[in-house]
Amino acid sequence: MRRIAIVGGGQAGLPLALGLLDKGYEVTVVTNREPDDIRRGKVMSSQCMFDASLQIERDLGLNQWEADCPPVEGIGLAVPHPERPGHKLIDWAARLDRPAQAVDQRIKMPAWMELFAARGGRLLIQDGGVAELELLAASHDLVLLAAGKGDVVKLFERDTARSRFDKPQRALALTYVHGMRPAPVFSRVAFNLIPGVGEYFVFPALTTTGPCEIMVFEGVPGGPMDCWRDIKTPQDHLAKSLDILRTFLPWEAERCASVELTDANGILAGSFAPTVRKPVMTLPSGRLVFGLGDAVVTNDPITGQGSNNATKACAVYLEAILARGDQAFTAEWMQQTFERFWDYASAVVDWTNSMLLPPPPHLLHLLQAAGDAPALASAVANGFNHPPNFFPWWTDATACEAFIAAKSTRAAA
Ligand SMILES: Cc1cc2nc3c(=O)[nH]c(=O)nc-3n(C[C@H](O)[C@H](O)[C@H](O)COP(=O)(O)OP(=O)(O)OC[C@H]3O[C@@H](n4cnc5c(N)ncnc54)[C@H](O)[C@@H]3O)c2cc1C
Repeated sequence: MRRIAIVGGGQAGLPLALGLLDKGYEVTVVTNREPDDIRRGKVMSSQCMFDASLQIERDLGLNQWEADCPPVEGIGLAVPHPERPGHKLIDWAARLDRPAQAVDQRIKMPAWMELFAARGGRLLIQDGGVAELELLAASHDLVLLAAGKGDVVKLFERDTARSRFDKPQRALALTYVHGMRPAPVFSRVAFNLIPGVGEYFVFPALTTTGPCEIMVFEGVPGGPMDCWRDIKTPQDHLAKSLDILRTFLPWEAERCASVELTDANGILAGSFAPTVRKPVMTLPSGRLVFGLGDAVVTNDPITGQGSNNATKACAVYLEAILARGDQAFTAEWMQQTFERFWDYASAVVDWTNSMLLPPPPHLLHLLQAAGDAPALASAVANGFNHPPNFFPWWTDATACEAFIAAKSTRAAA
């Protein structure tokens, strides 16, 4: 049977490894953290996944936490009123056609690593660099690098034509809490957009200590939400989170009267530049390495797409590897496989990048009009499950106005 090696045991690498193992492939996973280190370590993501991605996990038999994880039933948007403190200029929410879910990667990844080893996969805990990639390439038919934002992925050349930014566009922070008052009527990603300051969104999830809410802060660099560098302790991190809400989003602060951190590691702060890399790397020996997941397409978390993208890439790659049969995994095959994924992912990247820039007038009109047109709000909310559906109307002002009119007419009728 063919031998496949995957460096990086995360949201992209492990489902692919388990999927290949299931089909009888000999699979080696090289990853740099022990399951228990991940379990006991810091949170890594907010990892909200929408139905199409959850379905891929279901199809692979990797939906072990579906019954325990609280559902995310919708998406809401609020924008504070610029002249009336405490009031909202925009305020709507729409249900998702099917719920999303966020299972803490500290639960998922260790369990999948152990499942992979129990099913006969070869799991090596070590740092993969050029030397390890060379050894794997010499002994396997295909080597994939799915090391997320690890330094090793910089071995893939940055694709300047496909990378809009070369610097981080937001200062990021996560705060996992218990005790938040739920959103009214249906659970949701409550997305708050504070012009010039940044974004805050919050949604239910499952963490190591049970159901929780994950608070995500996206601060415009240099602005008042770019404020995490001097925070020293978990309690100070929580206090800063609540301080931001009291200052900019009092309706969100009200939900937090009784919150406490899920655990001392339920926090994260940092930043990175959204980047697209060329997916094929040639090692000094001339052997090839194929990139997967964040290693080659990293999006800012503002639209919550990274885990979804990693999973959808995994599905495309799995199908392509199986279809390849016994033929060689050439550079051409790798490029074609990536392009098949890029047909989808380019829309995710364009949409996500657009959210990092000040909104043009047609988008402001769209987001405001959604408050009066449930069909419009529903289209925006459900676009998170399949971002190509945002086009052309998200970026093309004429198409956007026509879309608003069509959805609003239906609402009026
Ligand atoms: C603050 C924040 C919030 C987010 N929120 C969301 C969200 O709501 N929804 C969503 O879909 N996505 C979200 N994401 C993005 C999502 O977490 C990632 O896109 C996703 O985990 C990428 O999967 P991956 O497998 O490519 O990388 P990862 O999941 O990062 O896995 C990479 C693995 O490789 C290992 N590794 C690294 N270097 C090496 C090496 N040299 N050798 C061996 N192993 C190595 C790492 O330890 C890790 O286990 C968020 C990210 C951040 C930072």
